[in-house]
Amino acid sequence: MKSYRLALIGKDVGYTKSPSVHKAIAQAIGVDIDFEVYDVGFAELDETVKRLFDGCDGFFVTKPFKTEIKRFLNAVDTECGVNFVRCSDRMGFNTDGTGFLLALDRNFPDWDANVKSALVLGAGGASMSVTEALLNRKKSVYVLNRTLMHAVKLCNTFNAELYYNQPAELIVNATTVGLKGDDVLTTLCILPDGFDYAVDLIYEPSETPFLRRCKRTGAKTLNGKDMLVYQAIVGDQILMNNETNVQTVFDNVMQILNGK
Ligand code: NAP
Repeated sequence: MKSYRLALIGKDVGYTKSPSVHKAIAQAIGVDIDFEVYDVGFAELDETVKRLFDGCDGFFVTKPFKTEIKRFLNAVDTECGVNFVRCSDRMGFNTDGTGFLLALDRNFPDWDANVKSALVLGAGGASMSVTEALLNRKKSVYVLNRTLMHAVKLCNTFNAELYYNQPAELIVNATTVGLKGDDVLTTLCILPDGFDYAVDLIYEPSETPFLRRCKRTGAKTLNGKDMLVYQAIVGDQILMNNETNVQTVFDNVMQILNGK
């Protein structure tokens, strides 16, 4: 059986479900994966990245290093942050945007037909991925962020606009607010008129105050679990040159994770 050494690097990621997800992917694909989590600060970044290049086949990157990681890489396939690195050629990939769209398509088969505009909360690495993915599906994207300059930069990088109460059918929380049970809507905004779908990229807790509030308005809601699984599968498949249908792998992984 083929064997791969993988890791996740991020800061304050004690909550991560990545090890169990990659273990399930390994089982579904029929390989062996050894997965380690590196929960580090900026001061330890250089040393940790060197260890990862020396000891891993590939590693996933999460907040707040998705942009910073680029300075260690030979090439990237994205203007967004990098969330997966293949060590052999130091190539960086973004699989978050693909994972986000796969999760939307699976859970809301009608979303593409019904959504013209989306409000993205946040302007960090995940917001970039989500913005680029939605623009690729020809949606208008409005961005709202605590730090205005970060939102301006995101809008200038992509063809997005700053949010000033434009109507939007989809709202996405791509901030870190909600991880500790806090509500992004109390700090950032009121809900836009006429939205039908709400996605929180956070998966732990499985229902954030943001999603609870959106659900109460009658919107269809989705947390970040499916996106997490999809982006992990896409990264692993890049590393392994595995071309198994992504939906087949997803179904198997979910069965394994749900203990069926
Ligand atoms: P990041 O690059 O660190 O960006 C964090 C964002 O949150 C920034 O826009 C930041 O605003 C905002 N923020 C932080 N604290 C805030 C507060 N108190 N009030 C308002 N805004 C605040 O992080 P990221 O990588 O984009 O990740 C964002 C979230 O998405 C995380 O919860 C992560 O776990 C989740 N995520 C999930 C998946 C998945 O597969 N489900 C994938 C990627 C990310 P400022 O610009 O003002 O600092």
